[in-house]
Amino acid sequence: MEIMRFSLGNLKSNCYIVSEAKKTFIVDPGYESEDVVKYIKKYNLDVEAIYITHGHFDHVGGVKQLKDLYGCAVYAPIKDKIWMSKTTYNQFGYEIPVDHWVKDLDKIDLLGHTFTVYDTPGHSEGSTVLHYDSILFSGDTLFFQSIGRTDIPLSDSMAIYKSIKRIYSLFNEDVIVYPGHGRATDIGHEKKFNPFVKA
Ligand SMILES: [Zn+2]
Repeated sequence: MEIMRFSLGNLKSNCYIVSEAKKTFIVDPGYESEDVVKYIKKYNLDVEAIYITHGHFDHVGGVKQLKDLYGCAVYAPIKDKIWMSKTTYNQFGYEIPVDHWVKDLDKIDLLGHTFTVYDTPGHSEGSTVLHYDSILFSGDTLFFQSIGRTDIPLSDSMAIYKSIKRIYSLFNEDVIVYPGHGRATDIGHEKKFNPFVKA
């Protein structure tokens, strides 16, 4: 499985293109991006799906463009629906097109592998991580030596603390963490060096 990272927009949100045998799915396309579209074209990838880790604008802004282009299925956490529906939390003026609302322990078949969704509330109510084997997309919950912001609407600092403790208990030390912003890390490193939540 190949994981390509694109850092998009002025918030430098990570969008991941995950591919294997010409099939691909996209995690958190936060902004419309020519680079993402060019990459898919260059490698002639068949886009199966989009996975949204949480509903914030800098993780969903490119969803509609990609869905219009590829007709792929979109998965997003039900508990963050408020950010993606037509509410005052949604700044786009249109509903983010989601096909499948997911929740804790849901399984999703992507590229012929079974990925599992875990609810990790805190940064947002509906924040999730997506796991398969030694791969963990952590959204804005866990970063390299940092954690998601909890000074924004509908966030909860006690909840994110518990969520990260849960992540530490669920996954092996060698699981690679692909966060919503910044460089990748692994569970072992964060357990030891994360200054906000230690194991
Ligand atoms: Zn966020």
